[in-house]
Order: sequence, then C-alpha cells, then structure tokens
Amino acid sequence: MSTVVVGTMAFDSLETPFGKADRIVGGAATYIGLAASYLADDIQMVSVVGEDFPEAFMDDLKSRGIKLDGVEQKKGEKSFYWSGKYRNDMNTRDTLDTQLNVLADFKPNVPADYRNADFLMLGNLTPAVQMSVIEQMTTRPKLVVLDTMNFWMEIALEDLKKVLKKVDVVTINDEEARILSGEYSLVKAAKKILSMGPEYLIIKKGEHGALLFNSEEVFFAPALPLEEVFDPTGAGDTFAGGFIGFLAASKDISFENMKCAIIYGSALASFCVEKFGTERLQNLTKKEIDNRIQQFIDLTQVEIKF
Ligand code: AMP
Repeated sequence: MSTVVVGTMAFDSLETPFGKADRIVGGAATYIGLAASYLADDIQMVSVVGEDFPEAFMDDLKSRGIKLDGVEQKKGEKSFYWSGKYRNDMNTRDTLDTQLNVLADFKPNVPADYRNADFLMLGNLTPAVQMSVIEQMTTRPKLVVLDTMNFWMEIALEDLKKVLKKVDVVTINDEEARILSGEYSLVKAAKKILSMGPEYLIIKKGEHGALLFNSEEVFFAPALPLEEVFDPTGAGDTFAGGFIGFLAASKDISFENMKCAIIYGSALASFCVEKFGTERLQNLTKKEIDNRIQQFIDLTQVEIKF
C-alpha cells in the first residue's frame, strides 16, 4: 500500500524550559514521513524546500526508503522557517515567527506514479495546497487524513472549510478544535467538526492523550507518562505519521483498527518528545517501538469484575 505525505519541510528554532535549538530541521512532512517509515513501505513525500535545506537530511530520508520525487527544491530561495517557544507546562507554545519563504507560492506537483496511492496524509500546510494535492489524485485514496493548525484557521479559514469536505479523518489539538467549532465542550466541538465533512475526528491533547470520534462512537487513548520530555515539537505530526503508517501497513480502516493506529501514533510521539527535533525519530529500533506498545497495553488494561 502506498502513502502520499504532504506537508512542510522546514527549519525550526525552538525554545523549551530545557534548552534551545537554532535552525534545526523540522516540518510536518519530515516528522510524518519519518514516523510512518517505521511501520509502512512506499512512502512518497510531496513538499518544497529552499537551496538551504541540507542534502544529508534528504539522504537520510531516502535511506529509509522514503521517496522524495515530489519534493521540489527551489534554487536561490529559502526553506519554510518556524520558531516557537514552549511555556513551562510544555503543552502550550507560542509561535514567535513564521516565514513562509518557498511555501508562499508553492504549487505542488504529485508525481504521476503516486496519483493512485491508497493513503493520503495531508500534513499541516496551506489548505489550498492540500486541496490541490487531493485534486491531482487520479483515483480517490481509500483514506485521506488531514492535519491543520490555528495559523491556517486564522488566515485561510474558507479554504480550510473547503478541504474539510474532501477528507475522511481530521487531526487537530483541543485548542484548535475549540477555535474551529466555536464550542468549549470537546464533545460538542467534535459534533460540529464532523458536520463540516470528515467521518472521523482525532483531538490531540498533548500529554493528556487523544480522542477519536465518529458520529456514534468515541475512543480515548492516554499519552504515556514520561520521565523526560525535552521538546514536544513534531509530536502531533509524528502521531499522524504513526496513525496513517499503521493503517497503511494493516490495510484496515475500520474504527476498531483506528484505535490501534492511535496507540501506534501515541507510542511514536512519545519517542519524538524525548530529544530535540527529529533526533530521536532518526534513531529508533523496532524492538523499542514494540516495547513501548507493550507499555501502552499495560497502562490501559484493566479487569473489572462485577
Ligand atoms: P507539531 O508540533 O506536530 O504541531 O509540528 C511542529 C512542526 O510544524 C514544526 O517542525 C514546524 O516546522 C511545522 N509548522 C509550524 N507552523 C506551521 C505552519 N503554519 N504550517 C505548516 N507547518 C508548520
């Protein structure tokens, strides 16, 4: 099963209560692609970078089997740049700077051999670009997942609403769900967002786990209580990559299987936050992932006798 991943590839400058990192590689598609590559084959990224984007990082992605034919490199231009600072609770962050650079007039070109992909992961990116990728698919993918953020709700809400009508699953955090729906209760927010188009909604609550909704059911997965949380950047994207990677590998898009996919997404995200940027995600073993899945099972299993 092939999976197309669209999103930013970026430079990030980050500050957390534990330290700072200046201009390290980040971006939604970077985290999604890395996470998904641990679970599924045939991942094809669609993005845009500037001349400044490190060749060695591209080589690292390729060495994992990730295809980069859809990543355009623009000569003489700069990559997307984002800078953020986390508050002491690490769940809230302030964006200090967003420089669109190459993203400002990005027209994605989905390579011809990926227009029939089974899975499409629309990572956080300009909604019009997300739409353009959907329109370039020759056959409708089995599952289209969309991630977005408050930035796009503020500057491109109408475009975002149009894309929401075309996707199956939306992943956003609790604050964004409240902004998008205008509802404080997450149950009411979920109902409203599901009425905008998607069949499923995942609300990410950082260290408090994630909720999966459809019109009839709801599932909750906790986040693993971790001793070390260094840098939450990319945790949401890593979660999305693990989620879609698991579904693509298991070829099953039922609500029941989405529950497992959420656990995989949460497990991969729990690694992501242990080091700055993508470092931990670039150095994972299958055994470490399996052990963490077991920790999730142990954390959530309970036998109640009435
Ligand atoms: P997350 O922590 O999962 O929300 O993702 C953080 C990543 O999103 C960083 O690596 C940023 O480069 C990227 N990012 C930040 N702002 C935006 C934006 N407005 N659009 C797309 N990607 C962004």
